Amino acid sequence: MTLTHPFFDADGDKLREECGIFGVIGVNDASAMTALGLHALQHRGQEAAGITSFDGREFYSRRGTGHVAENFSSSEAIRELPGHMAAGHVRYSTTGGAGLRNVQPLYADLASGGFAVAHNGNISNAIRLRQDLVRKGAIFQSTSDTEVIIHLVATSRYPTLLDRFVDALRLVEGAYSLICMTPEGMIACRDPLGIRPLVMGKIGDGFIFASETVALDVVGAEFLRQVEPGELVQVDFEGNVFSHRPFGQISARPCIFEHVYFSRPDSIFDRRSVYSVRKEIGAQLAIESPAEVDLVVPVPDSGVPAAIGYSQRSGIPFELGIIRSHYVGRTFIQPSDSQRHSGVKRKHNANRALVEGKKLVLIDDSIVRGTTSLKIVEMMREAGAKEVHMRIASPPTMHSCFYGVDTPERSKLLAAQMDVEAMRVFIKADSLAFVSIDGLYRAVGETGRNNTCPQYCDACFTGDYPTSLTDLADRESPPAQLPFPVNRVA
Ligand code: AMP
Repeated sequence: MTLTHPFFDADGDKLREECGIFGVIGVNDASAMTALGLHALQHRGQEAAGITSFDGREFYSRRGTGHVAENFSSSEAIRELPGHMAAGHVRYSTTGGAGLRNVQPLYADLASGGFAVAHNGNISNAIRLRQDLVRKGAIFQSTSDTEVIIHLVATSRYPTLLDRFVDALRLVEGAYSLICMTPEGMIACRDPLGIRPLVMGKIGDGFIFASETVALDVVGAEFLRQVEPGELVQVDFEGNVFSHRPFGQISARPCIFEHVYFSRPDSIFDRRSVYSVRKEIGAQLAIESPAEVDLVVPVPDSGVPAAIGYSQRSGIPFELGIIRSHYVGRTFIQPSDSQRHSGVKRKHNANRALVEGKKLVLIDDSIVRGTTSLKIVEMMREAGAKEVHMRIASPPTMHSCFYGVDTPERSKLLAAQMDVEAMRVFIKADSLAFVSIDGLYRAVGETGRNNTCPQYCDACFTGDYPTSLTDLADRESPPAQLPFPVNRVA
């Protein structure tokens, strides 16, 4: 994740990002396997990709902007990354400006030897920590919050690397799933609340860590378990596995938006099939907000499982009334509004022969700025649909995420500006409804949201942030000692 303070942002990077991470130890061709794993995680980040490997003596690194295939499909690229251990990273951002210096894994030579780290998540006190470190003389190479962790490890006074690492993490607030490489092996960990995902698998004598189980499937590994919230797993070159719980027992708050949108539907997140959860959200929507229509139409691809659930529960036929071109990337990531608008058109087309004269209920996973919904509703009307109703498989997205899911600032979130009726008018639908927060919790297998002890991080829907947001607070009322104003952290 990248810091967006102007002081740190000299190369114009303005990134807010989701990421995917993958690491493997104890196999031949570790970097080839990492490239394959990153491929399966490409939906988590399309802006840049990097792999670092270790051959028992040296670390090797290759990082580039663009997709995994653009950077790692040649055998020369893989040959540059020898060794039995490798870790990789894919990064996602909305606004471009990808400084190569921020592409992960980040690497540093510490007193204990080489240290490479791949990070998914966002540290919510990174600017504050960085200012302290800079004041003490640290020289940063990137604008990434991940580098803060490296500096904290480097400057910790504890004797062992593991202790220094834990010491560093104790100062960090926010969300982090990390895969680190040292000359002794691999360390994988999740923040105490387990906000971002991380799973562990086995392949032959080797071990794998990845953001999602789908990456294990793709490389043919066996899914062992998730890395537990607050757990730190260490694997050495003899294949010994050590589990540490340095933060004690804290109630976990995994990100519910992984279920709603971010994870691939063929992944298992937080012990549940993402696909089944999405279908169940659709079923909850059908119960809460029925529509008298002829067809249930998903907004591809993100609305498909929820639409199947809506159709099965309501008994209304499921049909593909919108066809998606698979040669256009995610519309959401286009930097400007006009590009986003034309992106929606290039990506989706009405199946006119099907929808003409029909009453439709469209199902999508979320409304962020409203661009997609507005265009899709218009498209259905232009194709002759008689009525166009919209159902959304998440509650209104009213708050920004400070934990590594890319959401725009609050002022750009449609639901932060309007109530549901005003949103309906904005997107020009005949009716609009969102699943309730309790409906969403029911879909993930709970009886509802436990308001005194919420089971997930749902801050984007509720504004209930499970950690302090130091950098945000500093931005809103800068402490007197700051030498410069704090602008914004994603
Ligand atoms: P918008 O057009 O701005 O309302 O964005 C809504 C669409 O973007 C939905 O169809 C989602 O599938 C997708 N989406 C929602 N959240 C994200 C996110 N954090 N990153 C990328 N795409 C998203």
